[in-house]
Amino acid sequence: MSDEYLFISDCHLDASRPEVTATLLHFLDKRAATARYLFILGDLFEVWLGDDDPAPEHQQVIALLRQLGRNTNVFFMAGNRDFLLGKAFADTTKITLLDEPHLLQLDKTRVVLVHGDTLCTDDHDYQAFRAMVRASEWQSRFLAKPLLERQQLAAQMRSHSVDAMAQKPSQIMDVNPTAVQDCFDNNQASVIIHGHTHRPAVHRYDSNRSRIVLGDWHQEPSYLSWKREQGFELHDPRVN
Ligand code: MN
Repeated sequence: MSDEYLFISDCHLDASRPEVTATLLHFLDKRAATARYLFILGDLFEVWLGDDDPAPEHQQVIALLRQLGRNTNVFFMAGNRDFLLGKAFADTTKITLLDEPHLLQLDKTRVVLVHGDTLCTDDHDYQAFRAMVRASEWQSRFLAKPLLERQQLAAQMRSHSVDAMAQKPSQIMDVNPTAVQDCFDNNQASVIIHGHTHRPAVHRYDSNRSRIVLGDWHQEPSYLSWKREQGFELHDPRVN
């Protein structure tokens, strides 16, 4: 067991892409199990409508997270797809739920972890939607509805969002430079790690600051590693 930190996000696990679930299961079993820490920065699931959803395609992931937790500390921060993941899930899997933003000290480097959607401030419609669904009152009301009704509502919201996204220029779907600077400043951090945009890269800025964007998952894993002797390494089939 090395003192390695691993970071992943945006697996978007879904019954329609069993190969991604298989890739993640293999990663958790073989790769993450060698690290001391695993941070999952949101959108692990394509949709999460409450911890009472017995979706069979997620049961293996839940079981493997629980097994991984015996030796690896697993942390989860919500994304815009799985922000309803809650305490029951955390209790079952023994993962630790993180608030956003979360600060991490890696040697002399102060790191801030976010999912990434809060940096996309040019998408005003989305930010208004986010403010609504992240309010605890809205969530309690939604989670009190029967699962079938939640599924119907989510399908409606999803089709609205697909229509809206199709009309937005791709620039609006990326991070806003001012929001990025504010994130560095407000958290007094020199590294931001986030996912969400599905644009894996390492961006470097003045004052030795960098922003590491985690990739979304397809056939191969996409992850970031940090070890004392090597620093950060982004492993993604589209980078390098
Ligand atoms: Mn996202």
